[in-house]
Amino acid sequence: MARKSFIAGNWKMHKTIAESKALAQAIKEAQNKNNADIMVAPVFTSLNAVAEVLKGSNVIVSAQDCFYEEKGAFTSQIAPNQVKDAGATCVILGHSERRSLFGDTNEILNKKVKAVLAQGLRVVYCVGETLQERESEKTISVIQQQIEGGLKGFTTQDLKDLVIAYEPVWAIGTGKTATPEQAQEVHKAIRNILEQKFDKDFAQQVRILYGGSVKTDNVDAIMAKEDVDGVLVGGQSLVAEQFIRIINYNK
Ligand code: PEP
Repeated sequence: MARKSFIAGNWKMHKTIAESKALAQAIKEAQNKNNADIMVAPVFTSLNAVAEVLKGSNVIVSAQDCFYEEKGAFTSQIAPNQVKDAGATCVILGHSERRSLFGDTNEILNKKVKAVLAQGLRVVYCVGETLQERESEKTISVIQQQIEGGLKGFTTQDLKDLVIAYEPVWAIGTGKTATPEQAQEVHKAIRNILEQKFDKDFAQQVRILYGGSVKTDNVDAIMAKEDVDGVLVGGQSLVAEQFIRIINYNK
């Protein structure tokens, strides 16, 4: 099944508003030879400015996280409707840094997915195993739990715009990339999990991104794999020239 490719940049805790706008502008003006969906996820303080720069373009603006409550006494938190108000149309949920540093469990993520979908926003849901889990051959069972837990209680209609990002924790920001074969193996397993939990059509339609030290010199080989529909890029999404090369991966 032909799935449109999806190239996403997670800017993490980098860039001022001015720097974010400049990077967004460069991406807006860049070539997109594969006609990929492109997404950028700036920090909350730059979200509205980036959304303004990208207005009228096809580049999707995403938050890197949000809270599940609508409003109230939750100091420092941002609600999905506030993300939407800032001009974003997407939220990344379950990034491994959120899971490991800020206590986002599959149960909490399930509430976040629900709250984000209720606002009509798209979700990029991240899954992935630690090195210890991989070495003890728990990769697939960990990912199964992350999918079962985080996506519990939704129909395929609720999740029609869902994007999943497979990010092995040992490959994020470490310079160690999963081989294209390792990525393909897990992406295929994710499709099997989705087929069991939902149905075959859904499993074939969901786009699955690979993330973890994606670079200009490995993107082509990763994107060549059948079940890899795109990439979620951290470090190399911060430099326009590099991210634009990744957007324009060679088939
Ligand atoms: C990420 O932030 O999701 C990521 C994969 O980072 P990096 O590309 O730097 O490994």
